[in-house]
Amino acid sequence: MAAAPALKHWRTTVERVEKFVSPLYFTDCNLRGRLFGASCPVAALSSFLTPDRLPYQEAVQRDFRPAQVGCSFGPTWWTCWFRVELTIPEAWVGQEVHLCWESDGEGLVWRDGEPVQGLTKEGKKTSYVLTDRLGERDPRSLTLYVEVACNGLLGAGKGSIIAAPDPEKMFQLSRAELAVFHRDVHMLLVDLELLLGIAKGLGKDNQRSFQALYTANQMVNVCDPAQPETFPVAQALASRFFGQRGGESQHTIHATGHCHIDTAWLWPFKETMRKCARSWVTALQLMERNPEFIFACSQAQQLEWVKNRYPGLHSRLQEFARRGQFVPVGGTWVEMDGNLPSGEAMVRQFLQGQNFFLQEFGKMCSEQFWLPDTFGYSAQLPQIMHGCGIRRFLTQKLSWNLVNSFPHHTFFWEGLDGSRVLVHFPPGDSYGMQGSVEEVLKTVANNRDKGRANHSAFLFGFGDGGGGPTQTMLDRLKRLSNTDGLPRVQLSSPRQLFSALESDSGQLCTWVGELFLELHNGTYTTHAQIKKGNRECERILHDVELLSSLALARSAQFLYPAAQLQHLWRLLLLNQFHDVVTGSCIQIVAEEAMCHYEDIRSHGNTLLSTAAAALCAGEPGPEGLLIVNTLPWKRTEVMALPKPGGAHSLGLTPSPGDGAQHGLCSCSSPHLTAAPAAPAACVRTARGLLVWEAPTDSASRPPPTKTDGSVTLDNGIIRVKLDPTGRLTSLVLVASGREAIAEGAVGNQFVLFDDVPLYWDAWDVMDYHLETRKPVLGQAGTLAVGTEGGLRGSAWFLLQISPNSRLSQEVVLDVGCPYVRFHTEVHWHEAHKFLKVEFPARVRSSQATYEIQFGHLQRPTHYNTSWDWARFEVWAHRWMDLSEHGFGLALLNDCKYGASVQGSVLSLSLLRAPKAPDATADMGRHEFTYALMPHKGSFQDAGVIQAAYSLNFPLLALPAPSPAPATSWSAFSLSSPAVVLETVKQAESSPQRRSLVLRLYEAHGSHVDCWLHLSLPVQEAILCDLLERPDPAGHLPLRDSRLKLTFSPFQVLSLLLVLQPPPH
Ligand SMILES: [Zn+2]
Repeated sequence: MAAAPALKHWRTTVERVEKFVSPLYFTDCNLRGRLFGASCPVAALSSFLTPDRLPYQEAVQRDFRPAQVGCSFGPTWWTCWFRVELTIPEAWVGQEVHLCWESDGEGLVWRDGEPVQGLTKEGKKTSYVLTDRLGERDPRSLTLYVEVACNGLLGAGKGSIIAAPDPEKMFQLSRAELAVFHRDVHMLLVDLELLLGIAKGLGKDNQRSFQALYTANQMVNVCDPAQPETFPVAQALASRFFGQRGGESQHTIHATGHCHIDTAWLWPFKETMRKCARSWVTALQLMERNPEFIFACSQAQQLEWVKNRYPGLHSRLQEFARRGQFVPVGGTWVEMDGNLPSGEAMVRQFLQGQNFFLQEFGKMCSEQFWLPDTFGYSAQLPQIMHGCGIRRFLTQKLSWNLVNSFPHHTFFWEGLDGSRVLVHFPPGDSYGMQGSVEEVLKTVANNRDKGRANHSAFLFGFGDGGGGPTQTMLDRLKRLSNTDGLPRVQLSSPRQLFSALESDSGQLCTWVGELFLELHNGTYTTHAQIKKGNRECERILHDVELLSSLALARSAQFLYPAAQLQHLWRLLLLNQFHDVVTGSCIQIVAEEAMCHYEDIRSHGNTLLSTAAAALCAGEPGPEGLLIVNTLPWKRTEVMALPKPGGAHSLGLTPSPGDGAQHGLCSCSSPHLTAAPAAPAACVRTARGLLVWEAPTDSASRPPPTKTDGSVTLDNGIIRVKLDPTGRLTSLVLVASGREAIAEGAVGNQFVLFDDVPLYWDAWDVMDYHLETRKPVLGQAGTLAVGTEGGLRGSAWFLLQISPNSRLSQEVVLDVGCPYVRFHTEVHWHEAHKFLKVEFPARVRSSQATYEIQFGHLQRPTHYNTSWDWARFEVWAHRWMDLSEHGFGLALLNDCKYGASVQGSVLSLSLLRAPKAPDATADMGRHEFTYALMPHKGSFQDAGVIQAAYSLNFPLLALPAPSPAPATSWSAFSLSSPAVVLETVKQAESSPQRRSLVLRLYEAHGSHVDCWLHLSLPVQEAILCDLLERPDPAGHLPLRDSRLKLTFSPFQVLSLLLVLQPPPH
């Protein structure tokens, strides 16, 4: 007979139910204590330790020694392989039997030579289902292997997750036994926890909350944990509650399984390969058990690793992709940083990624771009997505904004060129949900587009270090499919979500421009060597592709190094992962990244020489150097030319390709017709190259040091005055006499800041660092004249930054050059300091301009609003500019990304000294160059963009093994300085490999018609997208070797050129 109704106290009722499901309290009599029934030890346990990450076949051959529960193993990054021999007792027939395994580290179960499930305590995976129901005739004895990596889901930080790894950490096996699992108890626990979540989440003002709490209370009343026959009554109470439906207007949550795996972060790249296997094999197992479960997986690189190391797992992933349960998303090679990679590198993320997805899964990821965990998003991404066949984008990182709360979760994003994509941020502000009621309610409550968007994404599964979803998460979400008082929850694919959002998008707002993350602004600067490697390798691959393309067009014998280039590009793209190029990784990862750059440098240089040799073959002329200009405009520059015996001499090299307006390629030969600004004489070098050698009265006139110790450099274009400590006291545009340095101020002023963030050391520089500014003052008399004029004038100085760190700098001005360069070497040994260099300009403007991918944008120079102030430290690529009407000052760099302009002061961020997660980050020697360019008129008309390219792409002087061509030659020229020919490469899929792809963009921010002149044997020209798919209406008429192209502001165009067959 039921007890009479009674008054219930809210808190005691809640806590009563909590205790009934608690894993800590009253487990002797509560429901949780009955989750597992009978248990028995495994029959035999043995193990061996190895520092290597061995393949299974090799590991099982090793010498396993007896082991016991309680044993410890390690240290960090080692692997302990366990052989687990087990026999299930006959008495357990009819029961569900698990191997219960609890150990530190990350485990992977192998059965019959294949990985079957991951085991991690942190990822709530501590049991492996041996059988759902043991049959009478089932084999009861088997042998499993468990491969345990000596690192946690989030690495092995000493004391805190982002601390440097503890190399001595030891790991322990605390449980390994067989046990009977009570599925009915599990389901009751899921229901009771959900009811508790509803009661607490909806709170005391809500009718439904009490219904949930009283239902749970009644379940506890009727349920006797010791008597399973009482469970159905409790289950019926729960089913009645969850079966009460919501109304038609309910918000719909689209729950997709996910597992964010950082491609390298607090663990090395090689561990990520195993993290993928552990996480994805577990997800597959869940797909098998839950046919409605959909799992979204990004990053082609990780899939490629699994394909190579775990081919069986890869085939199963392909099978589940065909079923629509395993959904590849994003389309990129890795989830790259959204700020630092060049435009071309971003295109290659998609090109390499999409081609991989097409090849392995039969289709590209056309549904959405996927970048949930990246530290800001370039304003060019919408156009790049469009060009790669994608119109939708999912992320959530802007929820980390420190200052301003982003006003949308669902909106249209309009990029720099006007391209629009539909964007969704899961309103739960996470990509690693657990399926709790709290998260479900937050998803509804937190949605900033209530009334505009009635669908939300809900990404569930342990992430960052892998892990992924669990059965419990799925059980919770399935139970919440349609319950009054809660949003509807359906297991969906990202495609279903976006289709629902798109079909009802009429009221959505639009955000224009970059999605700037107001946090992690230190990642533009941390790990300067990685940044330098990135910029340099982007340049090398650009040059190799260009030269190889020209060799392909001009030589029937030349084989384009497609496979090598793909390999090198993939290394570069890998390093652009959002915890590598950003410098937020541990020391081992940084070292691996540097090895990748070294590979690109050495192989890239070999490929350059090979292409140069092919270009020289068969032409008459003296042996010597091949001078190559890899930029699409004329250049006259002073270069250091190698002399026999390893020395260098300076030569003034006019633009190759004199016949065309913009020379691309030329060779060493007497074709130096572009006269330099100054009188000069021609001489022939020992190696057969003509160089200009300026007489002593040339335009570059560094007078000797004045008596006050200052130095003036003057090339007739700009005049630079340095004070006796190397600071810039004046920078004058000679023709107009216009001064660029603010009155009474000095430029080239190094400044040191205290740099102690709140927590995320390598990531964050906080606003308050600006309050600790300390100018670094040098000693008079340290400035000396370097090169005494002629083609080049220079001065140099030493500067003690602190007792531990010092700097030397050469300030260089070349004949004909519109900018002064600062070659800088720093020996940096600091802790939590930030080094910048400042240039106060005699320019007033409320906006400064910064280069980004395929274009530039403006950001404020003031702190009017919280949105302005939150951008106290921003990113830029090769240049930034502060201009007023008629005049401006540009600051160029060859490997830096952090910058700011406050008021009239241009500031370039040089070096940081964070200590976590890599205590050695940025310690040691650095070399970098920045340059200052005052200019008349706009930066566009003054050629700032071209100057920044020139600084980053020096003319190449490649040894020509055979006679170099006798005539100089230009492959391409453009009629408008607004258009940049960024890339020339072989087409990915090209008949007989004789098609090229050209990528051009409009760089000034203008509508422009432009003629492209080609001197290659082109038979057909077709517009194509960024994935090189021809536009059916894109055939361009080719007249007199010219093509007409029309650009809108910042538009990127790709062109497929089919070359004529080679001459026989
Ligand atoms: Zn991440």
